[in-house]
Amino acid sequence: MAKQDKKLVLMDESCIGCGICTTVCPTNLKKQKDINFDVDTEPRAIAVSNGNAFIDYDICVACGICTKNCPVSALIIEVLT
Ligand code: SF4
Ligand code: SF4
Repeated sequence: MAKQDKKLVLMDESCIGCGICTTVCPTNLKKQKDINFDVDTEPRAIAVSNGNAFIDYDICVACGICTKNCPVSALIIEVLT
């Protein structure tokens, strides 16, 4: 995980798989600017598969931007103690 003091948490039961989180994530956007980026194979901080979002904790920096854009509030930032 990129940051130790906070963590992005997905509530799977709430996620409707709309994919908005994947499009607003600045980490994803930065990766997608790479000319060699392949959306099918390249890991992203957050992506959607089979109707559910999933988080790659090796890439997500827990910035929280996706939590503000999820229409069903399925994403939250958890502060670790
Ligand atoms: S976490 Fe929210 S924004 Fe992301 S796919 Fe699920 S419902 Fe959509
Ligand atoms: S917390 Fe930030 S880096 Fe992690 S998936 Fe959401 S927008 Fe991307």
